[in-house]
Amino acid sequence: MASAVTGSTRLAAVIGDPVRHSRSPAMFNAAFEACDLDWVYTAFEVPEGRAVAATDAMRALGIAGLSVTMPHKAAVIDGLDELTDGARALGAVNCITNAEGHLTGHNTDGAGFVASLRRAGVEPAGLSAVVLGAGGAARAVIHALGEAGAEGVAVANRSADRAELAAALATTGRPLPMGDLPEALGTAGLLVNATSLGMREGDAPVVDPRHLHPDLVVSDLVYQPLETPLLAAAEAAGCRTVDGLGMLLHQAAIAFELITGLPAPFEAMASAAGFGA
Ligand code: NAP
Repeated sequence: MASAVTGSTRLAAVIGDPVRHSRSPAMFNAAFEACDLDWVYTAFEVPEGRAVAATDAMRALGIAGLSVTMPHKAAVIDGLDELTDGARALGAVNCITNAEGHLTGHNTDGAGFVASLRRAGVEPAGLSAVVLGAGGAARAVIHALGEAGAEGVAVANRSADRAELAAALATTGRPLPMGDLPEALGTAGLLVNATSLGMREGDAPVVDPRHLHPDLVVSDLVYQPLETPLLAAAEAAGCRTVDGLGMLLHQAAIAFELITGLPAPFEAMASAAGFGA
């Protein structure tokens, strides 16, 4: 954060409900400080149904950028002037930029996921992937894996109808019946848990550990806890693992770049995220 807020300090924020737990203010304010920018970032608790009121306020107040979280990622679209192709395909926005009142909606989740894979030394192009889940995070990951050239993206989800819709977001996507998961894992190069399983204490690994093998990279989007039962089982099976923190940091770093037009100070954002060393 700028050492003193003045009349020329620029404002960015996250909108959501709940939002007080968000790590975005810590990450963005650390980034502004690292870049010596006279900017400040805060959190606005905006109740469901008020997303368009928030975008109207963004124009009226000249707020430079907004991050968008639950429950506004779809509803906020009605208040925007333009969407990127990715945000339009997903029907969900997690970042809004403001060019003199012209608001553009972006979705940085999928690109953040792919960047986190690459940072861990995993190139998704040509990989055969299995994605578990079909909610907002899964949809962003499936779309991004398709864009990044994954050879195949098989989508398994508790609710099969949602798996079919989500799989259509990748050109190489296909729905995968839950019963076919063991066979698909046998030939896959990447497994992504994009369900919320693993967040609660006592959750079992989301797949049977016997189906994990050392040629499989295993990624879990859950970041609380960072070491999920799936990642623990994957490590025991000799798999390379990628935890959910990388996606969280990279989607924020990409949003920082969109909002400020500057390269993100990634290390400063990472140490401010509050996950320890
Ligand atoms: P969401 O839209 O609510 O989707 C939840 C998904 O989990 C759905 O596919 C749902 O299946 C599945 N699911 C939930 N409970 C289940 C159960 N008991 N058994 C089987 N499947 C179950 O949530 P989301 O926003 O996509 O988030 C999913 C996870 O990703 C969360 O843990 C979130 O914290 C994490 N996430 C991480 C990042 C990051 O930056 N690392 C970003 C976004 C989200 P149905 O369709 O059958 O209901």
